[in-house]
Amino acid sequence: MITRPAMSLSNPPQAWASRPFDEMRCPTCGARQGGWVDACRRCKSDLRLLRAALAAYEQNWRSALTALDDERYDEAAAHARRCLELRPGAESRRLLAVCQLLRGDWTEAVELARMA
Ligand SMILES: [Zn+2]
Repeated sequence: MITRPAMSLSNPPQAWASRPFDEMRCPTCGARQGGWVDACRRCKSDLRLLRAALAAYEQNWRSALTALDDERYDEAAAHARRCLELRPGAESRRLLAVCQLLRGDWTEAVELARMA
């Protein structure tokens, strides 16, 4: 039996709520941008596509948490999987692992947790 965590996922503790993109970096030259900008301050690379991808990631991340909170685990997993596609990394894998755990897909949950 799965017991839900006492906390509300749509009102998460600070660590969960922290935005991973407060500091935007240019993928070309690595320069910190100090905000969401259309072009890199240093090398003038076009950052609009990156910004769009990060915005889509954030939207899917929030949708996944909302769906988890409402116990809509299949939907949460779909949003989490989109997060992993948009931004592969430990954070995305952990979110998808939680979703898969709650869906009862223990195999993928364990696999993701091992990679995270
Ligand atoms: Zn740059």
